[in-house]
Amino acid sequence: MKIIIIGAGPGGYETALLAAERGVEVVLVESGHVGGTCLNEGCIPTKSFCKNAEVLDGLREAESFGITGLDFGFDFSSVVSRKNAVVEQLRGGVEGLLAHKNITLVRGKASFKDEHTITVIPSEVEGSPQEYTADYVIIATGSVSASLPIPGADLPGILTSKEILDIEEVPQRLCVIGGGVIGLEFASVFRSFGSEVTVLEYCKDILPRFDTDLAKRLKQSLGKRGIEINTQAQVTSIEKLDSEYRITYLRKGKEETVLADKVLMAVGRKANVGSLNLADIGLEYTGRGITVDDRTMQTNIPHIYAVGDINGKMMLAHAATFQGIVALDHIMGIENHIDLSVMPAAVFTSPEAASVGMTEDECKEKGIPVKCLKSFFRANGKAVTMGQTDGFCKLVVAAQPKDGQSSPYMTGQLLGCHLYGPHASDIVQEACALVTRKATLEEFKDIIHTHPTLAEVLQSAAHS
Ligand code: FAD
Repeated sequence: MKIIIIGAGPGGYETALLAAERGVEVVLVESGHVGGTCLNEGCIPTKSFCKNAEVLDGLREAESFGITGLDFGFDFSSVVSRKNAVVEQLRGGVEGLLAHKNITLVRGKASFKDEHTITVIPSEVEGSPQEYTADYVIIATGSVSASLPIPGADLPGILTSKEILDIEEVPQRLCVIGGGVIGLEFASVFRSFGSEVTVLEYCKDILPRFDTDLAKRLKQSLGKRGIEINTQAQVTSIEKLDSEYRITYLRKGKEETVLADKVLMAVGRKANVGSLNLADIGLEYTGRGITVDDRTMQTNIPHIYAVGDINGKMMLAHAATFQGIVALDHIMGIENHIDLSVMPAAVFTSPEAASVGMTEDECKEKGIPVKCLKSFFRANGKAVTMGQTDGFCKLVVAAQPKDGQSSPYMTGQLLGCHLYGPHASDIVQEACALVTRKATLEEFKDIIHTHPTLAEVLQSAAHS
């Protein structure tokens, strides 16, 4: 069996490795760097920035831990070079793995010639186009930053999440357009780096897909750190003045402005369908991405699959990887128990936020009777010792249906967990395991937690 995989991000390269391990002949085509958005411009470089931000914040609060006499400077160019070194190290690791598994890595831009044939325009200028054929094709070409259709959006110097990773100095005033995951992460780290940060978000709350309770509290928490967040703010134009930008937005019918030295456009991402020649082979796609079957990632052309950001389902690195496994298993007729509907997500702000399963609002909309249990980090011993008590945890649990009501879930089944606070991205993993395995609250209460740990916040919520 031979498979062509287009795109070597976490959707493409992880699937390639697994396929090769299973004895499949794999051709992996990549037009940029191996590792994709995640490794080169997304998850990894941003988390390197987050670590710098955390160290800086730690130094600032050293006195409250009795450490005095610290005199430190901050060199932003070292933050960028450290980030580059981290990315290069990991990229080298992935390249090594691909070579070790005998995967044919083709450097160039792929497009469909026909349903089974791919033409690749090589990345090297002197190379000529090459053709590859295979039994199956998996498209994993990811996504690119979206922008707003407003005057000034394409002015030189308006940054995307890619460009901001390589700026030369910390802007004194940073305006972030978009209060989603990516916008808030940059708002949080640049606040730690010393910028005055304003976030403009169109929706009523930040993090539109997250639990509203969590979003409201996290907004307050980021506000306390000096990040100004304006929700219900519809940005209408950006102008370049002498040495600054003026961002105009409408809020409750009133026009308001923000002045900033740098502007980050973080209004979401769009599927990277552009160069694939999909229409010519009759492959179905919409503005959201390539249309696939929810369980198999199969497109309307049965031997072509689309995984990761390109199908627009869930723009997360681990979603891309697991969709890839599901697609490969389907191709090879292997049964698995992966439930793609239980997809954890994290926001690496300070404090972090994380979520898995259904939100309270979602359950209400679907008429599912639930009860919500809460606990707070201020009552968690470990959080108090760390001096990081801001945060809460909310468990969404299926409730006994009242007369005339029904529920597809077992009473007591854990349906969701939403939290923000220190290490929320790690803590959510336990809840993810429980939601995936359809555990009940009573079963969860029986599980012993080490003391003192941040994970006890889950136990406290369960017992609340
Ligand atoms: P990608 O990683 O985008 O890879 C696609 C690859 O395909 C690219 O390398 C591209 O060069 C290549 N390609 C495109 N077209 C062609 C073509 N025609 N021929 C050959 N190759 C092609 N997700 C998380 O889970 N956690 C995080 O903390 C997180 N942080 C993020 C921070 C930022 C700033 C950004 C932008 C994203 C972040 N994400 C995060 C999202 C995550 O990066 C994506 O969900 C993930 O990379 C999607 O993987 P993918 O394999 O679908 O696509």
